[in-house]
Amino acid sequence: MDRKTFLKYTSSTLAGVASGFNLSKAFGGQKVRLRNHKLSKNWAWITETEGSVDDWKYRLEKLKKAGFDAILPQKNFDTIIPAAEKVGIEVHAWLVSLQRGSDTEAQQKHPEWFMVNRKGQSSLSDPAYVDYYKWFCPSRKPVHEYLREEVSELLAYTEIKSIHLDYIRYPDVILPISLQPKYDIVQDKEYSQYDYCYCSVCRQRFKEQYGTDPLELKDPAQSREWKLYRYNQVTTLVNKIALDVHEQNRLLTAAVFPTPDIARTLVRQNWPDWDLDAVLPMMYHNFYDKGLSWIAEAVKEARNELPKTTALYSGLFVPAMDEKELAQAFEYAMDAGADGISLFTDTAMKGKHWKNLRRVIQKGS
Ligand SMILES: [Zn+2]
Repeated sequence: MDRKTFLKYTSSTLAGVASGFNLSKAFGGQKVRLRNHKLSKNWAWITETEGSVDDWKYRLEKLKKAGFDAILPQKNFDTIIPAAEKVGIEVHAWLVSLQRGSDTEAQQKHPEWFMVNRKGQSSLSDPAYVDYYKWFCPSRKPVHEYLREEVSELLAYTEIKSIHLDYIRYPDVILPISLQPKYDIVQDKEYSQYDYCYCSVCRQRFKEQYGTDPLELKDPAQSREWKLYRYNQVTTLVNKIALDVHEQNRLLTAAVFPTPDIARTLVRQNWPDWDLDAVLPMMYHNFYDKGLSWIAEAVKEARNELPKTTALYSGLFVPAMDEKELAQAFEYAMDAGADGISLFTDTAMKGKHWKNLRRVIQKGS
Protein backbone atom coordinates (compact mmCIF):
# COMPACT_ATOMS: atom_id res chain seq x y z
CA MET A 1 0.00 0.00 0.00
CA ASP A 2 1.54 3.33 -0.94
CA ARG A 3 1.33 6.30 1.44
CA LYS A 4 -1.54 7.99 -0.33
CA THR A 5 -3.74 4.90 -0.35
CA PHE A 6 -2.84 4.23 3.25
CA LEU A 7 -3.83 7.73 4.30
CA LYS A 8 -7.11 7.42 2.47
CA TYR A 9 -7.77 4.06 4.06
CA THR A 10 -6.94 5.18 7.59
CA SER A 11 -8.91 8.41 7.38
CA SER A 12 -12.01 6.51 6.32
CA THR A 13 -11.68 4.20 9.32
CA LEU A 14 -11.12 7.05 11.71
CA ALA A 15 -14.74 8.09 12.18
CA GLY A 16 -15.42 8.39 15.87
CA VAL A 17 -11.81 8.99 16.85
CA ALA A 18 -11.84 12.22 18.78
CA SER A 19 -8.49 13.61 17.73
CA GLY A 20 -5.38 12.86 15.73
CA PHE A 21 -3.15 9.89 16.34
CA ASN A 22 0.50 9.17 15.84
CA LEU A 23 1.46 7.02 12.90
CA SER A 24 5.16 7.15 13.59
CA LYS A 25 5.47 3.36 13.79
CA ALA A 26 3.63 2.85 10.53
CA PHE A 27 6.10 5.15 8.84
CA GLY A 28 9.26 3.66 10.27
CA GLY A 29 9.70 6.23 13.03
CA GLN A 30 8.87 9.24 10.86
CA LYS A 31 6.43 11.42 12.74
CA VAL A 32 3.15 11.70 10.87
CA ARG A 33 0.12 12.97 12.66
CA LEU A 34 -3.19 12.47 10.94
CA ARG A 35 -6.08 14.67 11.87
CA ASN A 36 -9.51 14.35 10.42
CA HIS A 37 -10.67 17.85 9.54
CA LYS A 38 -14.29 16.81 9.86
CA LEU A 39 -13.70 16.16 13.54
CA SER A 40 -12.36 19.65 14.12
CA LYS A 41 -14.26 21.91 16.47
CA ASN A 42 -14.45 25.46 15.14
CA TRP A 43 -15.30 28.70 16.88
CA ALA A 44 -15.95 32.37 16.13
CA TRP A 45 -15.41 35.42 18.33
CA ILE A 46 -18.51 37.59 17.98
CA THR A 47 -17.96 41.36 18.06
CA GLU A 48 -21.28 42.45 16.57
CA THR A 49 -24.06 41.16 18.80
CA GLU A 50 -27.13 43.14 17.73
CA GLY A 51 -30.06 41.61 15.85
CA SER A 52 -33.25 39.65 16.51
CA VAL A 53 -33.54 35.92 17.19
CA ASP A 54 -34.33 35.41 13.49
CA ASP A 55 -31.31 37.46 12.40
CA TRP A 56 -29.20 35.33 14.66
CA LYS A 57 -30.65 32.08 13.38
CA TYR A 58 -29.71 33.11 9.83
CA ARG A 59 -26.18 34.10 10.87
CA LEU A 60 -25.62 30.95 12.91
CA GLU A 61 -26.98 28.62 10.24
CA LYS A 62 -24.30 29.96 7.91
CA LEU A 63 -21.66 29.17 10.52
CA LYS A 64 -23.09 25.73 11.17
CA LYS A 65 -23.15 24.89 7.47
CA ALA A 66 -19.48 25.84 7.17
CA GLY A 67 -18.52 23.45 9.98
CA PHE A 68 -18.65 25.70 13.03
CA ASP A 69 -19.66 24.49 16.48
CA ALA A 70 -19.24 27.33 18.96
CA ILE A 71 -19.55 31.11 19.25
CA LEU A 72 -18.12 33.59 21.72
CA PRO A 73 -20.37 36.64 22.20
CA GLN A 74 -19.80 39.27 24.91
CA LYS A 75 -23.44 40.25 25.36
CA ASN A 76 -27.02 39.97 24.08
CA PHE A 77 -27.24 36.43 25.49
CA ASP A 78 -31.04 36.59 25.86
CA THR A 79 -31.37 36.77 22.07
CA ILE A 80 -28.39 34.72 21.00
CA ILE A 81 -28.93 31.68 23.24
CA PRO A 82 -32.40 30.71 21.91
CA ALA A 83 -31.18 31.08 18.30
CA ALA A 84 -28.04 29.05 18.99
CA GLU A 85 -30.05 26.30 20.65
CA LYS A 86 -32.30 26.01 17.60
CA VAL A 87 -29.32 25.80 15.24
CA GLY A 88 -27.23 23.53 17.49
CA ILE A 89 -24.29 25.81 18.18
CA GLU A 90 -22.63 26.19 21.59
CA VAL A 91 -22.54 29.58 23.31
CA HIS A 92 -19.48 30.59 25.35
CA ALA A 93 -19.30 33.89 27.26
CA TRP A 94 -16.42 36.13 26.18
CA LEU A 95 -15.33 38.17 29.22
CA VAL A 96 -12.89 41.06 28.92
CA SER A 97 -11.32 40.71 32.34
CA LEU A 98 -8.37 42.85 33.53
CA GLN A 99 -8.58 45.60 30.89
CA ARG A 100 -11.33 47.87 32.22
CA GLY A 101 -11.31 50.79 29.80
CA SER A 102 -15.10 50.90 29.67
CA ASP A 103 -15.82 50.10 33.32
CA THR A 104 -16.54 53.66 34.42
CA GLU A 105 -18.14 52.51 37.65
CA ALA A 106 -14.99 50.71 38.87
CA GLN A 107 -12.86 53.60 37.59
CA GLN A 108 -14.77 56.03 39.80
CA LYS A 109 -15.23 53.84 42.86
CA HIS A 110 -11.89 52.03 42.96
CA PRO A 111 -9.10 54.02 41.29
CA GLU A 112 -6.61 52.22 43.57
CA TRP A 113 -7.35 48.89 41.81
CA PHE A 114 -5.66 50.07 38.61
CA MET A 115 -2.13 49.12 37.61
CA VAL A 116 0.76 51.56 38.02
CA ASN A 117 3.82 51.65 35.75
CA ARG A 118 7.50 51.91 36.73
CA LYS A 119 7.31 55.71 36.40
CA GLY A 120 4.61 55.75 39.08
CA GLN A 121 1.78 56.62 36.68
CA SER A 122 -1.59 54.92 37.06
CA SER A 123 -3.01 53.21 33.97
CA LEU A 124 -6.25 54.94 34.91
CA SER A 125 -4.94 58.51 34.54
CA ASP A 126 -2.08 57.83 32.07
CA PRO A 127 -2.98 54.78 29.96
CA ALA A 128 -0.33 53.42 27.58
CA TYR A 129 -0.92 53.40 23.79
CA VAL A 130 -4.68 53.95 23.75
CA ASP A 131 -7.23 55.56 26.04
CA TYR A 132 -8.89 52.26 27.01
CA TYR A 133 -5.66 50.71 28.36
CA LYS A 134 -6.82 51.07 31.98
CA TRP A 135 -6.06 47.82 33.80
CA PHE A 136 -7.04 46.16 37.09
CA CYS A 137 -4.05 44.94 39.10
CA PRO A 138 -4.32 41.14 39.52
CA SER A 139 -2.50 41.25 42.89
CA ARG A 140 -5.50 42.84 44.56
CA LYS A 141 -7.96 40.53 46.31
CA PRO A 142 -10.99 42.84 45.80
CA VAL A 143 -10.28 42.64 42.04
CA HIS A 144 -10.53 38.84 42.26
CA GLU A 145 -13.87 39.10 44.07
CA TYR A 146 -15.19 41.64 41.56
CA LEU A 147 -14.32 39.42 38.58
CA ARG A 148 -15.61 36.27 40.27
CA GLU A 149 -18.91 38.06 40.75
CA GLU A 150 -19.05 38.91 37.03
CA VAL A 151 -18.32 35.27 36.22
CA SER A 152 -21.08 34.11 38.53
CA GLU A 153 -23.57 36.45 36.84
CA LEU A 154 -22.68 34.93 33.46
CA LEU A 155 -22.98 31.41 34.83
CA ALA A 156 -26.60 32.19 35.73
CA TYR A 157 -27.24 31.46 32.04
CA THR A 158 -27.25 27.69 32.32
CA GLU A 159 -26.82 27.31 28.54
CA ILE A 160 -23.39 28.97 28.57
CA LYS A 161 -20.77 26.25 28.08
CA SER A 162 -17.66 28.13 29.11
CA ILE A 163 -16.40 31.36 30.53
CA HIS A 164 -13.90 32.69 28.02
CA LEU A 165 -11.31 35.00 29.60
CA ASP A 166 -9.79 37.71 27.41
CA TYR A 167 -7.33 40.51 28.30
CA ILE A 168 -6.26 38.25 31.14
CA ARG A 169 -2.73 39.62 31.29
CA TYR A 170 -0.59 42.71 31.86
CA PRO A 171 -0.55 45.54 29.30
CA ASP A 172 1.98 44.89 26.53
CA VAL A 173 5.42 45.81 27.89
CA ILE A 174 6.45 45.30 24.27
CA LEU A 175 3.92 45.51 21.46
CA PRO A 176 3.86 42.90 18.67
CA ILE A 177 6.47 44.07 16.18
CA SER A 178 4.14 45.08 13.36
CA LEU A 179 2.04 47.26 15.71
CA GLN A 180 4.96 49.40 16.93
CA PRO A 181 5.13 51.69 13.86
CA LYS A 182 1.39 52.30 14.26
CA TYR A 183 2.15 54.03 17.58
CA ASP A 184 5.40 55.49 16.24
CA ILE A 185 7.52 53.73 18.85
CA VAL A 186 10.48 51.35 18.85
CA GLN A 187 10.48 48.91 21.76
CA ASP A 188 13.91 47.30 21.68
CA LYS A 189 13.73 46.68 25.45
CA GLU A 190 11.32 47.10 28.36
CA TYR A 191 10.70 50.83 28.89
CA SER A 192 9.41 52.08 32.24
CA GLN A 193 6.18 53.67 31.01
CA TYR A 194 4.96 50.33 29.62
CA ASP A 195 6.21 48.20 32.52
CA TYR A 196 3.54 47.25 35.12
CA CYS A 197 2.65 46.82 37.99
CA TYR A 198 4.39 48.87 40.67
CA CYS A 199 1.32 49.71 42.77
CA SER A 200 1.63 49.76 46.56
CA VAL A 201 0.23 46.22 46.94
CA CYS A 202 2.63 44.74 44.35
CA ARG A 203 5.64 46.51 45.85
CA GLN A 204 4.77 45.43 49.37
CA ARG A 205 3.95 41.83 48.52
CA PHE A 206 7.05 41.36 46.38
CA LYS A 207 9.19 42.82 49.16
CA GLU A 208 7.62 40.44 51.69
CA GLN A 209 8.35 37.47 49.45
CA TYR A 210 11.76 38.38 48.05
CA GLY A 211 13.15 41.10 50.34
CA THR A 212 13.38 43.83 47.68
CA ASP A 213 11.17 46.67 46.53
CA PRO A 214 10.78 46.05 42.77
CA LEU A 215 11.40 49.76 42.18
CA GLU A 216 14.91 49.21 43.56
CA LEU A 217 15.78 46.37 41.19
CA LYS A 218 18.79 47.39 39.08
CA ASP A 219 17.41 45.76 35.93
CA PRO A 220 13.79 44.71 36.51
CA ALA A 221 13.57 43.14 33.03
CA GLN A 222 16.28 40.66 34.05
CA SER A 223 14.85 39.73 37.45
CA ARG A 224 13.57 36.16 37.35
CA GLU A 225 11.74 36.62 40.66
CA TRP A 226 9.95 39.75 39.46
CA LYS A 227 8.87 37.99 36.28
CA LEU A 228 7.64 34.94 38.19
CA TYR A 229 5.80 37.12 40.70
CA ARG A 230 3.82 38.72 37.88
CA TYR A 231 3.12 35.45 36.04
CA ASN A 232 1.81 34.07 39.32
CA GLN A 233 -0.60 36.96 39.97
CA VAL A 234 -2.50 36.23 36.77
CA THR A 235 -2.22 32.45 37.17
CA THR A 236 -3.63 32.61 40.72
CA LEU A 237 -6.60 34.66 39.55
CA VAL A 238 -7.31 32.34 36.59
CA ASN A 239 -7.09 29.22 38.71
CA LYS A 240 -9.44 30.70 41.29
CA ILE A 241 -11.98 31.41 38.55
CA ALA A 242 -11.41 27.86 37.23
CA LEU A 243 -12.53 26.44 40.58
CA ASP A 244 -15.73 28.52 40.50
CA VAL A 245 -16.52 27.58 36.91
CA HIS A 246 -15.79 23.87 37.34
CA GLU A 247 -17.93 23.76 40.47
CA GLN A 248 -20.84 24.77 38.24
CA ASN A 249 -19.92 22.01 35.76
CA ARG A 250 -18.91 24.49 33.10
CA LEU A 251 -15.63 24.96 31.27
CA LEU A 252 -12.95 27.64 31.38
CA THR A 253 -11.36 28.84 28.13
CA ALA A 254 -9.15 31.82 27.31
CA ALA A 255 -7.93 34.02 24.46
CA VAL A 256 -4.18 34.28 24.90
CA PHE A 257 -1.07 35.52 23.09
CA PRO A 258 0.04 33.14 20.31
CA THR A 259 2.83 31.07 21.87
CA PRO A 260 3.84 30.57 25.51
CA ASP A 261 7.16 32.39 24.93
CA ILE A 262 5.61 35.40 23.23
CA ALA A 263 2.87 35.53 25.88
CA ARG A 264 5.35 35.55 28.76
CA THR A 265 7.68 38.06 27.11
CA LEU A 266 5.17 40.61 25.85
CA VAL A 267 2.35 40.42 28.41
CA ARG A 268 3.51 38.26 31.39
CA GLN A 269 0.99 35.58 30.53
CA ASN A 270 2.22 32.09 31.50
CA TRP A 271 -0.83 30.31 30.15
CA PRO A 272 0.45 26.71 30.09
CA ASP A 273 0.15 26.88 33.92
CA TRP A 274 -3.53 27.78 33.89
CA ASP A 275 -6.35 25.34 34.70
CA LEU A 276 -8.02 25.76 31.33
CA ASP A 277 -10.16 23.26 29.46
CA ALA A 278 -9.33 24.88 26.15
CA VAL A 279 -7.00 27.60 24.98
CA LEU A 280 -7.58 29.86 21.96
CA PRO A 281 -4.21 31.49 21.18
CA MET A 282 -4.45 34.48 18.87
CA MET A 283 -2.13 33.23 16.15
CA TYR A 284 -2.32 36.46 14.18
CA HIS A 285 0.77 35.92 12.03
CA ASN A 286 0.66 39.39 10.47
CA PHE A 287 1.04 41.05 13.92
CA TYR A 288 4.45 39.40 14.20
CA ASP A 289 5.58 39.90 10.59
CA LYS A 290 5.35 36.15 9.98
CA GLY A 291 4.19 34.07 7.04
CA LEU A 292 1.24 31.70 7.22
CA SER A 293 3.35 28.62 7.97
CA TRP A 294 4.29 30.19 11.31
CA ILE A 295 0.82 29.13 12.50
CA ALA A 296 2.02 25.51 12.40
CA GLU A 297 5.13 26.42 14.42
CA ALA A 298 3.03 28.28 16.97
CA VAL A 299 0.71 25.27 17.40
CA LYS A 300 3.68 22.95 17.93
CA GLU A 301 5.25 25.28 20.51
CA ALA A 302 1.97 25.49 22.39
CA ARG A 303 1.49 21.71 22.26
CA ASN A 304 4.98 21.19 23.73
CA GLU A 305 4.02 23.04 26.89
CA LEU A 306 0.32 22.31 27.26
CA PRO A 307 -1.14 19.45 29.28
CA LYS A 308 -2.43 16.80 26.86
CA THR A 309 -5.97 17.23 28.15
CA THR A 310 -6.15 20.91 27.16
CA ALA A 311 -7.78 21.46 23.78
CA LEU A 312 -6.17 24.03 21.48
CA TYR A 313 -7.99 26.09 18.87
CA SER A 314 -5.91 28.42 16.70
CA GLY A 315 -7.21 31.98 16.60
CA LEU A 316 -7.04 33.26 13.01
CA PHE A 317 -7.17 36.92 12.00
CA VAL A 318 -9.52 36.92 9.01
CA PRO A 319 -8.86 40.51 7.75
CA ALA A 320 -5.23 39.53 7.02
CA MET A 321 -6.12 36.59 4.79
CA ASP A 322 -7.71 35.98 1.41
CA GLU A 323 -9.84 32.86 0.98
CA LYS A 324 -6.97 30.62 -0.09
CA GLU A 325 -4.78 31.73 2.79
CA LEU A 326 -7.58 31.12 5.28
CA ALA A 327 -8.05 27.53 4.07
CA GLN A 328 -4.29 27.05 4.19
CA ALA A 329 -4.13 28.47 7.73
CA PHE A 330 -6.78 25.97 8.83
CA GLU A 331 -4.71 23.12 7.41
CA TYR A 332 -1.49 24.36 8.99
CA ALA A 333 -3.20 24.56 12.36
CA MET A 334 -4.89 21.15 12.16
CA ASP A 335 -1.92 19.29 10.77
CA ALA A 336 0.33 20.72 13.50
CA GLY A 337 -1.95 19.42 16.25
CA ALA A 338 -4.73 21.96 16.80
CA ASP A 339 -8.25 20.73 17.55
CA GLY A 340 -9.83 23.41 15.36
CA ILE A 341 -9.77 27.15 14.77
CA SER A 342 -11.43 30.30 16.05
CA LEU A 343 -12.20 33.15 13.65
CA PHE A 344 -11.67 36.79 14.41
CA THR A 345 -14.29 37.45 13.26
CA ASP A 346 -17.22 35.90 11.40
CA THR A 347 -18.30 39.30 10.05
CA ALA A 348 -14.91 39.76 8.35
CA MET A 349 -15.65 36.68 6.23
CA LYS A 350 -16.57 37.19 2.56
CA GLY A 351 -18.50 34.68 0.41
CA LYS A 352 -15.29 33.17 -0.95
CA HIS A 353 -13.87 32.76 2.55
CA TRP A 354 -16.92 30.71 3.60
CA LYS A 355 -16.78 28.57 0.49
CA ASN A 356 -13.09 27.73 0.80
CA LEU A 357 -13.19 27.13 4.50
CA ARG A 358 -16.24 24.88 4.27
CA ARG A 359 -14.47 22.82 1.61
CA VAL A 360 -11.32 22.32 3.63
CA ILE A 361 -13.16 21.57 6.89
CA GLN A 362 -15.32 18.98 5.21
CA LYS A 363 -12.76 17.23 3.09
CA GLY A 364 -11.41 15.09 5.95
CA SER A 365 -7.75 14.20 6.27
ZN1 LIG B 1 -0.24 46.08 41.39
